[in-house]
Amino acid sequence: MLHFESLAVSAGRPPHLPGQPINTPISMTATYRADGPEQVYARDGDDSVRAFESALGAIEQGQALGYASGMGAVATIISGLRSGAVVVCPTSAYFNVAEMLRQRAALGHLEVRFCDVTNTAETVQACAGADLLWLESPLNPTMAVCDIEALAETAHQAGARVVCDNTFATSVCQQPLDFGVDIVMHSATKFIAGHSDTLMGATVTRDQAIYEELKARRSLYGPVPGSLSSYLALRGMRTLYLRMERSQASAGILAERLSGHSAVERVRYPGLAVDPGHARAKKQMLGGFGAVLAFDVRGDALSADRVCQRVELITPATSLGGVESLIERRARYVGEQKVGTPPNLLRMSVGIEHVDDLWADLQQALDTI
Ligand code: PLP
Repeated sequence: MLHFESLAVSAGRPPHLPGQPINTPISMTATYRADGPEQVYARDGDDSVRAFESALGAIEQGQALGYASGMGAVATIISGLRSGAVVVCPTSAYFNVAEMLRQRAALGHLEVRFCDVTNTAETVQACAGADLLWLESPLNPTMAVCDIEALAETAHQAGARVVCDNTFATSVCQQPLDFGVDIVMHSATKFIAGHSDTLMGATVTRDQAIYEELKARRSLYGPVPGSLSSYLALRGMRTLYLRMERSQASAGILAERLSGHSAVERVRYPGLAVDPGHARAKKQMLGGFGAVLAFDVRGDALSADRVCQRVELITPATSLGGVESLIERRARYVGEQKVGTPPNLLRMSVGIEHVDDLWADLQQALDTI
C-alpha cells in the first residue's frame, strides 16, 4: 500500500483518463436533471464532497463523510442516540461538545456523565450501562492524553460505541480506528483544511452499518458541506503531512524553550518527556505529538492577555490548524470557565513560520510581563 503522503496526494482524483481534469471541478448546483445516474440532490453530497471523503478515507483506512462543520459532525453522531441513552464525556472536552450534551440532557433526551478520561479507572466506572463513550485526545485545551485503546475496550465490553475527536492530533499523528475506536471525528476546519478559510467536519469509520447510518442522518438533518468547502478542505489535505511535519517539529522546539522561560509556569505538550501524558502519547500518537501546545503564564488572566496583545507575528485569534500561528486565552469563554480551564492558560496553534521567528515573538511578548 502507498504511504500516507502519497495517498493524501493521489486519492480522491477524477478517473485517470485522457482529457479528464486532475481535480474534481466545483459544482455549484443544488439539484440534478432527473433520469441520470444516482445523483439527485446536493444534500446527499456531490462530487467534491465525495472526492474529499475518498481522500480522507484512504489516509485513515475507513469510510469518511464530510459535514458542514465539526459541530455538524458532532450533531449527526449525537442525534442518533436512543431516548434515555447514557453518554460518557470528558469533563474538559471541547466545550461546545459538552454543551450540546448538556442541553440534550436538560431536554430529557439523554443522560450525560462527565468524567476525567485521563483517569482510566474513573472512566471504566462511568462506562457501566453507557451507550456512547466520547473521547478527545489530546484534550482541548489542556493537552491531556487518555488511553484510547484501554478505554475503547472497556466501552465495548459495556456495549457502548466509541467516538474519538481527533482534531488536535490529526490523521498524521494518531489513527484512533487502529485502537478500537468506532468513529473518528474531525473538525476539518483545522489542520485538515489547514488555511483558516473554510469550515468543515468529518467522520471516519470502518463499520459499514455506522457509515450508512451517519450518511442517512446527514442527508436527513442537512449538515452536508458545500462544494467549495469540500474542494478547499481536500486541497488542504494534499499538504497535511508536510504542514504537520513542520508545525509539530516547531511545536516541540517551542515547548522546550517555553519550559525554560521565567514567565511561564507550566507547559502542556505531550511531546515533552516530563508531560504527564507523554508515555501514553508515545503509544498512540505514532506520527508525532501534534502542533498545538498550551502554557500557563506566571500570573493571572491579565498577564496572559498581555501576551496575546503583545505578539506581532503570532495572531491572537481562536481556532487552530492553519498555516499561521494563533494564540488564545481559552478561559475568556464562559464554556471554558465552566470546565475549570485555568485563567492564565494560553493555547497556541503552531503554524509553518520559521521557528526562530515564532520564538522571538513569544519571547518579546513574555519578557514584558
Ligand atoms: N472539536 C474540537 C477539538 C475543536 O477544537 C472544535 C472547534 O474548535 C470542534 C470540535 C468543532 O469544530 P467546528 O468549529 O469545525 O465546528
